Amino acid sequence: MNVANASVTPMMAQFLEIKAQYPDALLFYRMGDFYELFFDDAVAAAEALDIALTKRGKHLGEDIPMCGVPVHSAENYLLTLIRKGFRVAVGEQLESPTEAKKRGSKSVVKRDVVRLVTPGTLTEDSLLEPRRNNFLAAYADIRGDGALAWIDISTGELRVSPCPRVRLSPELSRLAPSEVLVSESIFDDLGELVEESGSAITPMAKGSFDSASGEKRLFSLFSVNTLDAFGTFGRSEIAALGALIEYLDITQKGRLPLVRPPVREKASRVVQIDAATRRNLELTETLSGTRKGSLLATIDRTLTAGGARLLGQKLGSPSTELSELTRRLDAVACLVEKGTLREGLRDALRRVPDMDRALSRLALDRGGPRDLVALRSGIEQCLTLHETLSSDSTPEAIANAATAMSGHDVTLELLENTLVAEPPLLARDGGFVAPGYDAELDEMRRLRDDGRKVIAELQAKYAAQTEINSLKIKHNNVLGYFIETTASHAEKMLAAPLSDHFIHRQTTANAIRFTTVELSEMETKILNAGGRATEIELRIFADIKAQVLERSAELFAAAAALAELDVFAGLADLAVSDDWVRPKIDESRAFDIKDGRHPVVEKALRDQGSSFVANSCDLSAKEAAASVWLLTGPNMAGKSTFLRQNAIIALLAQLGSFVPASEAHIGLISQLFSRVGASDDLARGRSTFMVEMVETAAILNQADERALVILDEIGRGTATYDGLSIAWATLEHLHATNTCRALFATHYHELTALAGKLDGVENATVAVKEWDGDVIFLHEVRRGAADRSYGVQVAKLAGLPASVIDRARLVLEQLEAGEREGGTRQKALIDDLPLFSAAPPPAAPAKNSTVEERLKDISPDELTPRDALQLLYELKDLT
Ligand code: ADP
Repeated sequence: MNVANASVTPMMAQFLEIKAQYPDALLFYRMGDFYELFFDDAVAAAEALDIALTKRGKHLGEDIPMCGVPVHSAENYLLTLIRKGFRVAVGEQLESPTEAKKRGSKSVVKRDVVRLVTPGTLTEDSLLEPRRNNFLAAYADIRGDGALAWIDISTGELRVSPCPRVRLSPELSRLAPSEVLVSESIFDDLGELVEESGSAITPMAKGSFDSASGEKRLFSLFSVNTLDAFGTFGRSEIAALGALIEYLDITQKGRLPLVRPPVREKASRVVQIDAATRRNLELTETLSGTRKGSLLATIDRTLTAGGARLLGQKLGSPSTELSELTRRLDAVACLVEKGTLREGLRDALRRVPDMDRALSRLALDRGGPRDLVALRSGIEQCLTLHETLSSDSTPEAIANAATAMSGHDVTLELLENTLVAEPPLLARDGGFVAPGYDAELDEMRRLRDDGRKVIAELQAKYAAQTEINSLKIKHNNVLGYFIETTASHAEKMLAAPLSDHFIHRQTTANAIRFTTVELSEMETKILNAGGRATEIELRIFADIKAQVLERSAELFAAAAALAELDVFAGLADLAVSDDWVRPKIDESRAFDIKDGRHPVVEKALRDQGSSFVANSCDLSAKEAAASVWLLTGPNMAGKSTFLRQNAIIALLAQLGSFVPASEAHIGLISQLFSRVGASDDLARGRSTFMVEMVETAAILNQADERALVILDEIGRGTATYDGLSIAWATLEHLHATNTCRALFATHYHELTALAGKLDGVENATVAVKEWDGDVIFLHEVRRGAADRSYGVQVAKLAGLPASVIDRARLVLEQLEAGEREGGTRQKALIDDLPLFSAAPPPAAPAKNSTVEERLKDISPDELTPRDALQLLYELKDLT
């Protein structure tokens, strides 16, 4: 696009000039009631939004493609575009067309970008999920020293943590930021990793990650000259924080959100969970990507958006600090015991709005009167809660929360005195300031609304003054308001003393018309009253807003306390209704769960009218020794469920929740690993087997003695003996080197022999019953090894044709007999066993074809799915 072209219209020149500053974003160019897009932006947006692409005028002799969206519904379109990976620069009109005309008849209305909308910088309620944080992250790397900083600008929470590059992927999966900023110098290295985590990646200039300028930015943002009060930060941490702040400045065009002082998170204080484990355990979403059916959705009984976000954060980052866990568990236990207190608390919480987001919108100048009202009702509930909670003796966490809820009287009084009960959405619509707060405003509103009444009052006054009962005040477009008497009163009206007061305007055939200074002033007032009332309201709005924002720190603290109480009360409600118990947590290496249940499976079964079979698990380990349960049992017996439920119980305990069991004793867990189920990673060209091995390698290399490891069916993806050998060696490594607590499910019965040889390894099996040739799943985990695998019976349940089942039984019998005789019968078996009657007789190949020759060279285990597809094409060519 050529900006400096004489033939372009002034408007197009303006568009091109603005657009040149935002080459990576779609430019929403405000024109009256529409945002319009031109050129390539229009083509891309029309397709993404499925709206009509039209044209407007010509540029350099060519039609200009154009599309537009109405301003009033722009948010939805914005959301679609952001979801589809676009960034949008919103270009607004900065003056009215009349103002532009004043500057010259050809002047174009001044426009500029007021905001750059990106996935990580959304603040509108309609663009955000209320119960989820929306993080913007920045990753800095200074000579191998990595750090990750993240902020939710809709709530102002700012965090930072040292983060070596190997920890970046698990951290991104924990936080699930919508957007990650990186320096262009490491963009190429990190692009794939970030995109795999599902976040958008935005490169920034190297200078944005400079730690010295980062420090300056932080100093000025928090008006300090040292960061010591917030903690000690490494250079890369400051660089990451600095880049975040700069990006906010760029995208919000200098209007910074309310950023709270950075909180430093230490990796050692949270349970380390890698991306695969989070996915496998379906912590925040299911494997198919929905929130429903995830652990979070199942345990979430919170009533406020802030509470829901906090619960999500806590589940993502279970704690390893005993004192913190005891603090949380004491609070939950108190609310479990005190039912009335819990219910009272939850009743108040139901009325609590999203104070964090209301505050942030106000700070960004995107808030309205309803945000102030939200704060008002939030504070009202705080006061109620403060009273409810102070009358009872409560544990420390609840008492502290109660304290944070008091002391907002001044703010409350301000908001109560100034605002009506149900104000409109936008400040510019007016009508939100309570009557009686501002005398001038009341007067303006009276004039605006009661114009007719005011005039009638004047008319009565003048009639009395002139003693002319027929005197009227009328209105027309030429004169505006005027006083009219019949011509017969002309003489009296035009003479002193009345003429001093009544100014003659017009005489008609029957009437004579006057005005007064008072009437014309009144007229102007009535005409301007509406506008003036709005002006006053906007001034009052700005004033209250400023006062409220000055107190944002206390208000955020109150909101945080509300969120925490909500989490405690929600967990208590869950514990009571679902019969969960308080886990005993300590520094030991215990892992003793009595009658544990899987909350999500249990709920699904309950919804279907069946019940879950509770199972115990004891992995308590001696000092510096491993404790492993080797779990065998047929498919569908409930092995994966058992494995997952124990991991989930550990996580719930370290989130500070009661757990679904009749008793639980857990020695703190530092890391949680799970390798459960198999899935192809087609996008990266990795086969199931490869994915499984990569994940297993990560576990064996990283698990420490405080780790809890869950391994399901290691080695399934390859040939029997390969698989068995790998599973065998893996188990030995876990036992001897990782010395962790582990659950190991396998279909290799051969492994059960290891239990006798390795100290701390025990066999367990999920019991089934055979009845009339069918298998019945009891879902009961018992000590000991499974007697057989019941694969054929399970296949029958799955509906394989009866002829195939019968045939399989026959083959199995022969194979088992063969095994007993030392393998010599295997060869004979193939020769002797009568051919399967339903199978077509194989045509004897005369000679190996080229295809067969090619096939001989192939080892399927080493093929990626992509290679396999390629090979198919190749083979097809050979025929
Ligand atoms: P496996 O891993 O042994 O193939 P799963 O753990 O996938 O088996 O369980 C198969 C099904 O059995 C589950 O979908 C669930 O409905 C049911 N199930 C598993 N464990 C239990 C249990 N303890 N009580 C009741 N039903 C269960």
